[in-house]
Amino acid sequence: AQERYASIRGKPAKSKCGTTIGLHMNAGLMADLPSLEGSGAEGVGLFRTELQFLASNKVPTRGFLAGSYSRVMDAAKGKRVVFRTLDIGSDKVLPYMKREEEPNPALGWRAIRVGLDKPGVMRMQLQALLRAANGRPLSVMFPFIAQFEEFRAARAHLTHEIEREEKLGHILPEKIEIGAMLETPSMAFAPRQFFEETDFISIGGNDLKQFFFAADRENERVRKRYDSLNVSFLSLIEMIAQRCADTGTHLSFCGEDAGRPIEALCFAAMGLRTLSMRPASIGPVKNLIRQVDISEARKIILAARDDGEQSVRPAIKNWLAEQG
Ligand code: PEP
Ligand code: MG
Repeated sequence: AQERYASIRGKPAKSKCGTTIGLHMNAGLMADLPSLEGSGAEGVGLFRTELQFLASNKVPTRGFLAGSYSRVMDAAKGKRVVFRTLDIGSDKVLPYMKREEEPNPALGWRAIRVGLDKPGVMRMQLQALLRAANGRPLSVMFPFIAQFEEFRAARAHLTHEIEREEKLGHILPEKIEIGAMLETPSMAFAPRQFFEETDFISIGGNDLKQFFFAADRENERVRKRYDSLNVSFLSLIEMIAQRCADTGTHLSFCGEDAGRPIEALCFAAMGLRTLSMRPASIGPVKNLIRQVDISEARKIILAARDDGEQSVRPAIKNWLAEQG
């Protein structure tokens, strides 16, 4: 499939109206990294760190993690890699981490909630990331931030680890970016300071959509009821993009929908300028973006919204069909 898009691999995802969309890839394994070149991705917009923890029957050591992260950075050859700290709980459970049964795991003790309540593992992971960087730039992203204070508390752990590394005489990253995933509707309404204090924000659309519509992402029956091109969801995306534009905060979208061409186009029309997706989706998404005018797509979306349509999908599909 990548061969089909080989001719546009080195070209930008530039729309007819001149807007360029940055396309990055999602990864979670060292084995994913060769796709960075093959897909034409600009970098790794989301590196999920769960697999290194799931691969073993005990907590991996700091040395093991630092070695893995360092190899990932080596393979990226200077391209940006956004490392997301451990996002366990809900659908991702570690056999060696004791936890109580929860009635609603997706709404339960997961991700940053675990990291803040029992910070030992997260701190060890942050140390491993700092050591892996070994002077190179580092991007760290905290998952599942649901209120501003959680971001500040997580960042304080990182600051603490940076100071510790410095005291130990270890070389620090040349530059450290600290970001948050926006995965709960609450953060779209966060105080302005949240947008000012984050170096970047990435919309976790899989979770954001599940919480916006109160529809379990693991439950086919309810998940498919709600279109990602539902006007309410697109309005939420637009609002987040607007708030990030107001504060100059770099924003990306890294849920599965970013890899679906029509969804990607509509998100771009709502103001997204960076998308992160599985490597195989980069060609198809770029191919569509290059053939259309994003500002025209925006007009179609706004008209459908004004007309009270539930989803903009039919209108966008008609518009695309008209253009051949
Ligand atoms: C998301 O929620 O959209 C996301 C990218 O994170 P995950 O799928 O790992 O929950
Ligand atoms: Mg998520």
